[in-house]
Amino acid sequence: MSAQRRARIGVLALQGAVREHVNAIREVGADAVEVRLPRDLVGLDALVLPGGESTTMRRLIDAYGLREPIAAMARGGAPMLGTCAGMILLAERNDDGEEPFFALLDLEVRRNGYGRQLDSFEADLDAPSLGSAPLHGIFIRAPQVTDVGPDVEVLARDPDGHPVAVRQGHVLATAFHPELTDDRRLHRLLVELVGEESRRPA
Ligand code: GLN
Repeated sequence: MSAQRRARIGVLALQGAVREHVNAIREVGADAVEVRLPRDLVGLDALVLPGGESTTMRRLIDAYGLREPIAAMARGGAPMLGTCAGMILLAERNDDGEEPFFALLDLEVRRNGYGRQLDSFEADLDAPSLGSAPLHGIFIRAPQVTDVGPDVEVLARDPDGHPVAVRQGHVLATAFHPELTDDRRLHRLLVELVGEESRRPA
């Protein structure tokens, strides 16, 4: 471990919940880099797409010329974690017909799918593949996953059985905000995926 360099994880910092992700990444022993411009992506091992407002984030990602470089990073196998609005940007399908953005996860989302009257809520989530302790999910105008494809592994479900944390290969997403609790299992998993990626034969 000692000879191994620390993973460098970017956090898209155009809008939304950035600081908490930066802190979470540092807590699991990786370096965190705020990403605002394409040059900030150079040398990163993985990227977090935080929560915020996905329509605004789409617009800003395009305005700053980040769409293609981020897509290229993902094609190259760099692990990604999208939370809340970030999950919407990663999804291949949106149930309101809105265009997909990065389309890296074979699932369908419904924006604000938990309903406006229930803007925010918290729930303990079963997440057996992450350990026996439940994950505490903080949902803020969260997307609801309405369909998942066969290659998507469901890491956690809400009490009604909707997937709320998923993994497809090197891409992770949550409908809730793991950075707002002190449970670091998802950020740790992201960093572990970097390790797997660098051990893969060239
Ligand atoms: N409701 C937001 C959207 O549709 C997501 C909210 C969040 O990221 N906390 O983009």
